[in-house]
Amino acid sequence: MTDELRTRYAACPLCEASCGLEIVLEGDRVRSIRGHEADPLSRGHLCPKAIALQDLHEDPDRLRRPVRRLGDRWVEIPWAQAFTLAAELLHGVQERHGRNSLGVYLGNPNVHSLGAMTHNPQLVRALGTRSVYSATSVDQLPHHMVAWALYGHQFLLPVPDIDRTDLLVLIGHNPMASNGSMWTVPDFPQRRRELSARGGRLIVLDPRRTETAKIADRHLPVRPGTDAWVLLALIREVLASGRARPAAYVDGVEEVRGAVESFTPELAAERSGVPAAEIRRLASDLLDAPAAAIHGRMGVSVQSFGLLCQWAIQVLNILIGGLDRSGGLMFTSPAVDLVGRGLMGAGRPGRWTRVRGLQAFGSELPSATLAEEIRTPGEGQLRGLITIAGNPVSSTPGGHLLDGALSELEAMVSIDPYINETTRHAHLILPPTGPLERDHYDVIFHTLAVRNTARFSPAVLPADPEARHDWQIARDLVSALERARGGRRDLARWLRMRVSPRLTVDALLRLSPTRLSVRRLSRTPGGVDLGPLRSQLPERLRTADQRIHLAAPLALAELTRLRQAEPAVAADTLLLIGRRHQRDNNSWMHNAARLTSGRARHHLLVNPEDLAARGIPDGSLVTVRSAAGEVQVEAAASTDLMPGVVSLPHGYGHARQGVRLARASALPGVSINDLTDPNVVDLGSGNAVLNGIPVTITASSDEG
Ligand code: SF4
Repeated sequence: MTDELRTRYAACPLCEASCGLEIVLEGDRVRSIRGHEADPLSRGHLCPKAIALQDLHEDPDRLRRPVRRLGDRWVEIPWAQAFTLAAELLHGVQERHGRNSLGVYLGNPNVHSLGAMTHNPQLVRALGTRSVYSATSVDQLPHHMVAWALYGHQFLLPVPDIDRTDLLVLIGHNPMASNGSMWTVPDFPQRRRELSARGGRLIVLDPRRTETAKIADRHLPVRPGTDAWVLLALIREVLASGRARPAAYVDGVEEVRGAVESFTPELAAERSGVPAAEIRRLASDLLDAPAAAIHGRMGVSVQSFGLLCQWAIQVLNILIGGLDRSGGLMFTSPAVDLVGRGLMGAGRPGRWTRVRGLQAFGSELPSATLAEEIRTPGEGQLRGLITIAGNPVSSTPGGHLLDGALSELEAMVSIDPYINETTRHAHLILPPTGPLERDHYDVIFHTLAVRNTARFSPAVLPADPEARHDWQIARDLVSALERARGGRRDLARWLRMRVSPRLTVDALLRLSPTRLSVRRLSRTPGGVDLGPLRSQLPERLRTADQRIHLAAPLALAELTRLRQAEPAVAADTLLLIGRRHQRDNNSWMHNAARLTSGRARHHLLVNPEDLAARGIPDGSLVTVRSAAGEVQVEAAASTDLMPGVVSLPHGYGHARQGVRLARASALPGVSINDLTDPNVVDLGSGNAVLNGIPVTITASSDEG
């Protein structure tokens, strides 16, 4: 007898697009996953990753019970024993070496889980360490620092109003692969078609002819790491035109004019490879368009001048009059308003790191220093670590160095569903339920979405009674820590941690101007449409005087460093950049069979001219060397890369001893982060540098 078919609705938590899903179940098995047509944000869209949610749910390698490492063996243990052991490990390190000797690393999937968002901050506070790291300083810290400097809060992050713009300029940003990042834009392909249909244009600046560049009206290849020159020249040209139109609440235009005066299009052309005439033409385009928006993502964030680039992008939007304007760069009005309700700190630069003297921001330290903090003796040396949904060995610069450092820790605990490149070093792993087994509300991505909507998705499948949600793990771990410390219970925290994520969201919705509730949203599974983005400045600004001060000292200080930057690298050197693909998901979905099927995409892409100049045949195995390490990988000729630039995908290289990802470990490919250098960061922000890495390549056959 077959079970009755039932339809459930969910939000896809695998990327920032946050698509609405329609899931057909037969009993407790997923029969099909489709895009939910009635979802007002994603409008029926889904990408191949969504299908992999079923693979993730059924994956035999996914942990369902806590496991303890005994030498090379992993042994399942009951939850109660696991919490006691976790508390002993973590408390033991802090007791022996001080509170800050315990590090915390929070990975990107945390922001895709409601329970992690509501309960992990309490867990981190309870751990009582200042050694907190996260994926933020790997790829997006410049966005937050610039938002804080210009708008007064790290989460005031305006997004392109793509549905109404006339000109969209994307820099180092590939939404055809990502469906947006720091910008929730589900079904980018259709939205781009609609842009064309109303006579609008898309212009892309990128060293690679990306999937997005291929559908653009114009693609301007930029030498990696030189975008700041182009952006400053654009600011100069906009100001020189006499047509800049900043809003009345903007100050500092004349200081910016003086600061960028020497950044001419000719100088920018020399550094970046973008012709001066093209820079002037782009400045005119931005000024002529009835509504224009400029946005930059990975390519401009994970480079040596990430903060300066993100500042320049905001300044350009402001100077062309595009900020807070229909079709420009706009702020959202989310029902759960993290900024308005003070649910997230505004952020500000903080103390300096023990090693290298880099500055913290928003209470977090730069992740690029993690291995060094473990290996550098002295007061505050990291001796223990808890990772929460993070895989820094795969995703942070110098991953191979961190890999070695983790093996030296006295205690490591991971909250994670897999034994991966990072968690294989843990002494104990506490696995949470999967995405289909828990309630969801997008606390973060409604804040970055191209349309104001609100959607609550109850769990699609029941969780195993023996399983724990991430928020329950956080709750029980805090209780175990309090017991291990033998002190008094923090009653307020104890109570807060017993409030479920669902109840928390319900209260926040009811208190919001929308007067929504979980019950009301549950009656509309696709979510409620709260309308297009709307103008709300200067009232929404969180600066002390509710004005925007363009001449932010932290950005202007970077101009001197940029002027002094070495313009060129040695003749045989190439510049390495990363890339994403729609069928990859950072470092953590390669165990999904359907996602990883199809043509191999792990190759080092190289311009044919660069292969020919080195006498390397297409398809050869090459050795790639950087200052930080070397890897061997097959090279593939591609005219999509500008000469002098090579590209490796992010999130490969799972074949390390002890990793328990059967399918992923069998995939060819290497980790780009075995080449990126943790010693090189964007000094303006402390963000990792993952693009523009000087490398050499040689045919591996020549080395023998
Ligand atoms: S675009 Fe992102 S949110 Fe949408 S289905 Fe794909 S992975 Fe999920």
